[in-house]
Amino acid sequence: MKLIHLLALVTLILPITAFSSTGEIVVYSARNEHLIKPLFDAYTAKTGIKIKYITDKEGALLERLKAEGENTPADMLITVDAGNLWQAARDGVLQQVKSEVLDKAIPANLRDPDGRWYGLSVRARTLVYNTQKVQPSQLSTYEALAEAPWKGRLILRSSKKVYNQSLVAAMIAEHGPEKAEAIVNGWVNNLATAPFSDDTKALEAVAVGVGDVTVVNTYYFGRLMKKKPDLPLAIFWPNQSNGGVHMNVSGAGITAHADNREGALRLLEWLAGTEAQGQFAALNMEYPANPSIAPDSTVAAWGTFKGSPLNVATYGELQVEAVKIMDKAGYK
Ligand code: FE
Repeated sequence: MKLIHLLALVTLILPITAFSSTGEIVVYSARNEHLIKPLFDAYTAKTGIKIKYITDKEGALLERLKAEGENTPADMLITVDAGNLWQAARDGVLQQVKSEVLDKAIPANLRDPDGRWYGLSVRARTLVYNTQKVQPSQLSTYEALAEAPWKGRLILRSSKKVYNQSLVAAMIAEHGPEKAEAIVNGWVNNLATAPFSDDTKALEAVAVGVGDVTVVNTYYFGRLMKKKPDLPLAIFWPNQSNGGVHMNVSGAGITAHADNREGALRLLEWLAGTEAQGQFAALNMEYPANPSIAPDSTVAAWGTFKGSPLNVATYGELQVEAVKIMDKAGYK
């Protein structure tokens, strides 16, 4: 055998043996490094299994997985928003897993009915108001923000981000498309100013009085209040006598072409379990998806509320329709 052939053979064999001997797991994560690294470090410390990861935006990771196809080095995808998880499953980059551990740990409405992804943390998308301009008794529901008293007072994040697409999808599921469209039209009519590019900017606009109330994920409120505790902002839990607070997830699935399917599944089960769930949620001031784990003290201080029982997969199914409604309403 010529040396060059031998070398080719060695390079072919080496990566495979390297994988099987160490059980290394490769993760693509749309969740930022500081939110996942402490957990991966803990898992490695416990099991000796190394976790390699890259972080990027949700869309970029999905495109990368699709482009890499069978050759992807990724075993697991961690991403945010059920709309994105649903999209990844529909695009065929995730595989179905059957796991009693996961089914027990994660409530049915926070995971894919077909087992291709599982919610790992819950984010509540709720109302935040300016305490100098609004009495909580004036607030009630997401839907009511479309009504006349809120003319010129509503602040919203852009419709381009999946978060409000999911919220509108939930309204389509609850009320049907016509009523959902009327609500979105009402919101657009009531805007104090053009939509903002992120939740933090929306909160800041409410704090300085550009508008009086907005709709955000609670962890953005938590982060901002940690930096500036004196801002005149407070959380209101809407829809407590009907549909409940809009709930979404960050979550994960095993990639369709995972080389280390078993290893990735064990990691996913660990992330859903009692050891990891508290920290997984607390690192981003979210709620644990596993209901047997209490949220951390900062999050718990925001109070208890009734969350929507809708399966979060619904947001993906109705996303296209939600975007159409938002476009038609001129919601930028
Ligand atoms: Fe976010």
